[in-house]
Amino acid sequence: MLGRKERNQLELFITGSLRQLIPDDHVLVRVDRVLDLSWLRQEVADCYCLGDGRPGIDPEVAVRLMLAGLLLGIVHDRKLMREAHVNIAIRWFVGYGLHEALPDHSSLTRIRQRWGAERFEKIFKRTVEACLKAKIATAEVVHIDASLIRANVSWDSLVERHVGEVLDENAAATNEKKGRQSGKFKKVCVTDPDATMATNARNRRLEPAYKQHTAVDDKVGVILDVEVTTGQTNEGDIIELQVDEVGRTTGIRPTAVTADAGYAYAKVYAALEKRDIDAIIPAKAEPIRSRVPMRRFRYDAKHDILKCPKGRILRPKRPLKYGRFFYSRAKDCARCPLRSDCLSKGRANKAVVVGDDYPALLRARRRRERWSAEDRRLYQRHRWRSEGFHGEAKSWHGLARAIRRGLSNMKIQAYLTAAVVNLKRLAAALYALISVSIAFRPCAWPHRATSCPKMLPMRKRRSIAE
Ligand code: SF4
Repeated sequence: MLGRKERNQLELFITGSLRQLIPDDHVLVRVDRVLDLSWLRQEVADCYCLGDGRPGIDPEVAVRLMLAGLLLGIVHDRKLMREAHVNIAIRWFVGYGLHEALPDHSSLTRIRQRWGAERFEKIFKRTVEACLKAKIATAEVVHIDASLIRANVSWDSLVERHVGEVLDENAAATNEKKGRQSGKFKKVCVTDPDATMATNARNRRLEPAYKQHTAVDDKVGVILDVEVTTGQTNEGDIIELQVDEVGRTTGIRPTAVTADAGYAYAKVYAALEKRDIDAIIPAKAEPIRSRVPMRRFRYDAKHDILKCPKGRILRPKRPLKYGRFFYSRAKDCARCPLRSDCLSKGRANKAVVVGDDYPALLRARRRRERWSAEDRRLYQRHRWRSEGFHGEAKSWHGLARAIRRGLSNMKIQAYLTAAVVNLKRLAAALYALISVSIAFRPCAWPHRATSCPKMLPMRKRRSIAE
C-alpha cells in the first residue's frame, strides 16, 4: 500500500540528549571526543572586566561555534548562526538546547577583536601538543610549503601608486631598508592595505593576496606551525623562523626538512646546515648567462679563493651586504684566450660576486646529484603532505579566500583552520584506536552469540566502547 506521512507536526517533544539524534560518525561528534577547551576560560580572563558589566558569551561556546563553522565549511558568521538555529549537531556541539537563543553573529566579531591573534595561536598550539601526546606527530621530518590566499577585496579597490612612494611606505611600516625598485607604478589595495599583489605562476595575473607558510609533520600530516605574511613575502625569508618555531612548540628539533625548489637559496641551505638539519630541497642548477658561467669558477673554501677555468686565482676584496667581490689580476687575463667571453666590456680583469652562503649552495647541488632512495621518497611525500593540506584547507574549510580584512584577521582564520585539521587527524586516530581495541579485545561472550560486539555492526560497537 502507498504510505502517507503527516507533515503538519505541531509540537516536538524530546526526552534525553540531542546527542541521540546525531550519528556517531558525524564530524562534530568525532571532534568533540578529542576537543579539550577547559583551559580557555583562564587564558582569556584578562580580556574581560572581572565582576562588572553584562556577562559575555562563554569563551568555549564562541570557539566551538567558530570551529563548527570551519569543520562544516561555513566560513561567514551570519551564515553560520543562521545554520546553527536549525542544525541540531551544531547546537549540541556548542552546548545549546533547542529552546535556547543562540548568540548574535556580531558577538563572534567582537570576540576576535578582543582576544587578538595570539589567543587563537594558543588554541592551535594546544592541538599540536595533543597530537604529539597522542603520538600521531613526531616532528622529526617536517614538510614546509607556502600558499597564496586571495584577499577579501574587489578588483575595483586596486589603485596604481608610484612605486617609490609604496616602497617608502613599506620600509617605514616594517623598519626595513627600502626594497629594489622594479617598475614605475605599483598596484596597491586601498580596502585591505595588508594584502599585496602576488601570483603563483608567471603566466597568471597578479592578485591581492596573503601568503600562508605551513610546516606539516610527516607521520599523518599534523600541522606543526602556521605563519601568515603579506602576499609578496619570499618563502626563503620565513623558513628559518618557522623551523625554530616548530622546535619551540614541540620541544623536538627536526632531523630533516623538505621544501620545493622555491626555497632553493644558499641562505636556506646554510641556515639548515647550521642547525644540523638535513635539507631535502632540490637545488637548482646555476643559470647560464654567459659563455664562461659561474660554475666554471671553483671555490676553494680552505684558502678562501676562486680558481677560474684557466687556473688563475681570484682573491676576495670588496665586501658587500650579502657576500664579497673576488677579483683576478689584470696581467693574468691579458693574454687569456677566453678573455672576450669571460670579461665584461671595457674591463681588464674579472670581477665575481660570491655570496656568504655560496659553499652551502655548492654542497646542496652536489648532494642533489646523490639523493638516496629515502630522500626521493621523502620529497615525494612532501607533495601530498603539504600541498595536500593546502588543498584540503582550501576545498573544505574555506581557506581559498580571506574571510575578513587585515593581517590579524587572516592569522586568526589560518590558526583556526589549522586547528580544525589537527582535530580531524586526532579524531581519526582515536576512531582507528577504538576500532582496533574492539577488534582485539578478548571476547567475553559465548562464541557466535548475537550480543557479541564482534558480531555487531561498527556503529553499535562504538557506542559500546563509549
Ligand atoms: S679572462 Fe681571466 S678570469 Fe677569465 S678565464 Fe681568462 S684568466 Fe681566468
